[in-house]
Amino acid sequence: MMLTLFCAVSGWAILMFLIWNVWITLKTGASHLKTLHQIPCSGCEYFTNDYRLKCTVNPVKACSLEALGCLDFEPKTDCCNANQKRPRKLCK
Ligand code: SF4
Repeated sequence: MMLTLFCAVSGWAILMFLIWNVWITLKTGASHLKTLHQIPCSGCEYFTNDYRLKCTVNPVKACSLEALGCLDFEPKTDCCNANQKRPRKLCK
């Protein structure tokens, strides 16, 4: 009787631990993902969209957590011709 009770309690404890662990992992992952989405590089004028040189100003910190709050960030304009797939625009 005691062994059955011990196994049942252990089984529930392990199950609760697994559920708690999955919850913590998902919560941490969502938090990290939210942080990654705050990296401004994809909307920056200096972002080239080319893996060989991601940024012409700060190539080392581009697309990384170091780029959060980058002081060189410049909002992308239509005149930006960096590695575009469509034909180049000629802007004045
Ligand atoms: S200048 Fe800063 S924000 Fe812009 S692409 Fe380079 S690292 Fe990213």
